[in-house]
Amino acid sequence: MSDAGEFSVIDAIVAGAAQPATTVLGPGDDAAVLAVPSGRTVATVDVLVDGVHFRTDWATGEQIGRRAALASLADVAAMGARPTALLVGVCAPADTPIELVTGIGRGLQAEAQAAGAGLVGGDLTSSPVLTISVTALGEPVDAEPVLRSGARPGDVVAVCGRLGWAAAGLDVLSRGFRSPAAVVNAYRVPEPPLAAGPVAAVAGATAMIDVSDGLLADVGHIADASGVRIDLSATALTPAPRLLEVASALGRNASTWVLTGGDDHALVATFPAGAALPDGWQPIGTVLEDADGQTPDSAPDTVPDLASGVRVTVDGQSHTGAAGWDHFGRPG
Ligand SMILES: [Mg+2]
Repeated sequence: MSDAGEFSVIDAIVAGAAQPATTVLGPGDDAAVLAVPSGRTVATVDVLVDGVHFRTDWATGEQIGRRAALASLADVAAMGARPTALLVGVCAPADTPIELVTGIGRGLQAEAQAAGAGLVGGDLTSSPVLTISVTALGEPVDAEPVLRSGARPGDVVAVCGRLGWAAAGLDVLSRGFRSPAAVVNAYRVPEPPLAAGPVAAVAGATAMIDVSDGLLADVGHIADASGVRIDLSATALTPAPRLLEVASALGRNASTWVLTGGDDHALVATFPAGAALPDGWQPIGTVLEDADGQTPDSAPDTVPDLASGVRVTVDGQSHTGAAGWDHFGRPG
């Protein structure tokens, strides 16, 4: 990496990326040029830092690159949009193995291509800490962008994608283990259901978010933005048998992974009552009136915002953090 010539590795990967029809001018000039047929662009950025968001001894460069791309792509999907382009920045210490950097570039390109997005720009620079920034652009498809603020009392809450698998993998890796592969790989490379976002938008989703902070926290973001309460069903959120096995072996609680684990980037959306849920979506709860009748806009500044735990309940009971879940008496 210390040879300045090697800094062109990202340029080379970006230059070779396949481009969708919306890329009018690809990489190679000062900036790319993109067509926006619908007239609107969805834009988001995520930054991942070595030792904070990933570890190079837990995943290959390619896996780290794929995970970085998917984090931003999932945000585009959560708006009900289809990804069109990625722009990436990689900052790496001078002694970074070149294979790690080229792997990250390959991973970014692979997920961009799989999502139908063009890798239209990239920059690689020297820095004390390996850092990856991914900007994703997208377009709403045949529907309005789906915000966090549209949930209404009576709506059904539904999920598409996996919950708790990446958290289980993180738990395993944190304890120095490298298996079982099913959960470790879920952490290394999540499987967000990107195509399900635009489908949900067309199906009439009223609010949507991707689960990156944990189900309770992210459902709480919808509840806060929409000025509603949300009650989830414990039965609907029963952990997968594989997660129960892993939790049992580690002495952990699989329900905690499901309720509070991030990184799987499942999509959670609300749909009008009685609407047919699209394929792959499972109902997990109901939107309720805010008991106080306060919306974020109407609440005076002197009144502290309700904690998300108050706006989100499971079988009618509030949840006060990872340890609190044990109060529901869920078996490990
Ligand atoms: Mg998000």
